[in-house]
Amino acid sequence: TKLSNATLDALPDDVARPTYDRSKLTPGIVHIGLGNFHRAHQAWYLHRLMQQGKAHDWAIIGAGVRAGDAAMREKLLAQNCLTTLIELDPSGTSAEVIGSMIDFVAVEEGNGPLIAAMCDPAIRIVSMTVTEGGYYLDAKGGLDLDHPDIRHDIDRPDTPRTAFGAMVAAYRNRRDLGHPAFTGQCCDNLQGNGAVLRQTVLGLARAIDPELADWIERNATFPDSMVDCIVPATGEAELRTARAIGIADVVPVTHENFRQWVIEDNFCNGRPPWEAVGATLTQDVHAYEAMKIRILNAGHQILANAGELLNVPTIAACMEHRDIAAFFRKVQSEEVVPYVDPVPGMAPDAYLALIILRFSNPKIRDTTRRVAFDGSSRHTGFLLPILRDALKAGGSVDGLALTEALWARMCAGTREDGTRIEPNDPLWPSLQEAANAAKSRPMAWLEQTKLYGDLASQPDFASRFEAWLKKIWSDGTEAALRAYLSQSN
Ligand code: NAD
Repeated sequence: TKLSNATLDALPDDVARPTYDRSKLTPGIVHIGLGNFHRAHQAWYLHRLMQQGKAHDWAIIGAGVRAGDAAMREKLLAQNCLTTLIELDPSGTSAEVIGSMIDFVAVEEGNGPLIAAMCDPAIRIVSMTVTEGGYYLDAKGGLDLDHPDIRHDIDRPDTPRTAFGAMVAAYRNRRDLGHPAFTGQCCDNLQGNGAVLRQTVLGLARAIDPELADWIERNATFPDSMVDCIVPATGEAELRTARAIGIADVVPVTHENFRQWVIEDNFCNGRPPWEAVGATLTQDVHAYEAMKIRILNAGHQILANAGELLNVPTIAACMEHRDIAAFFRKVQSEEVVPYVDPVPGMAPDAYLALIILRFSNPKIRDTTRRVAFDGSSRHTGFLLPILRDALKAGGSVDGLALTEALWARMCAGTREDGTRIEPNDPLWPSLQEAANAAKSRPMAWLEQTKLYGDLASQPDFASRFEAWLKKIWSDGTEAALRAYLSQSN
């Protein structure tokens, strides 16, 4: 029987489910970008609160600004917005159905329904996961006012295309109606993610109506947060797992047995008591996010480009691959950990050990392809800041240069066994062009100044990058990894 409110009682006994009355929930949050991650993370935290009898006036309304989100809406509405979360721990598998989401806004061009939903004064938080590349940043990290989507929203502010244009329109209506502003809460993996969201919203608002921008600046807040839980994409294997448990959910989510959420306590219009279910509310998110982004997210990139080239299907399999795993450990301990500060209760070395354990969980089918996605925002956001710190400190950048060279080789679009790597980046055509040019002239890759800024003119880095890319093309990925591993520092 299909998952729905009516069939909750018929779920297998060992599947946990809402103990609260879902018909009494009222909305407080609109979430834009209903992918897998949100449901395993924020929606789970809220569900836990609801199980404790708290936050029943903070239920989530899902939303999306891309045509593709309409399919997710249909599927979720057909099962009363219930989601099955399947926890994949090396010690065993368990499942729970969460009920903290109660509706999904119609996905329409011009985003009228979304704007209307965000104008409801009951909505006090608008949160989002629209990917790291979704914030329209230029090469210097500012808002790219020339991007066609942003230009569109400046020219037609009543029928915006982007999540941010929709937020600006909703803020305007709320101001005009005398409603207080909502908090904008970014849950994407970006350093200073609240500040990034704030910059995009305010930058767009200022280009549309400076007075409105001033109002938003005075009234709205955009807390920074660090989010963490490894959540694979759902494919056939995950659907099979759900069926084996006895749940007919067409969009189940699998995840690891680890979650962390560190949130800057800066909400302009109230918030659920997240701290009651394990989130950390603090005024200093920065150290936590730097540790996580540099060791986990940058670490993912260190693994995934080599993994794609050698056709290693998952992150856990990369951790079992002798050379890739050894490469990961060496780069991390010699060129990443030195540029990470400790946080309360956790030293960088201990955090690295934890990440090695989490990445090695063989039950999580986190595909190398998913992790290798969006390199143009992930290399720039996660790896290049470490590289710049290392150059400033005069430390080694050999392994980081090799990491960039592996990406430059991967973007040529073929694995070493000759199979094709499907496009995996919004900038794919230009990346592929640069990658092919770099085969004979490696600097062609670093000369992509939109990605690398002035790094091509840093001789310590550029010469190592050149040598590595040449070696990868002439002797192969494994030979390059082994050459790196045989050097002792
Ligand atoms: P997903 O592919 O399942 O969902 C992505 C969602 O974002 C979809 O709803 C899509 O329509 C929307 N989207 C994509 N690009 C957009 C854009 N430019 N503008 C507006 N909407 C856009 O991915 P996911 O696993 O849910 O991950 C989403 C984000 O969550 C990641 O990029 C990351 O920042 C964060 N995150 C994910 C994980 C994880 O393990 N999956 C862990 C931590 C953080």
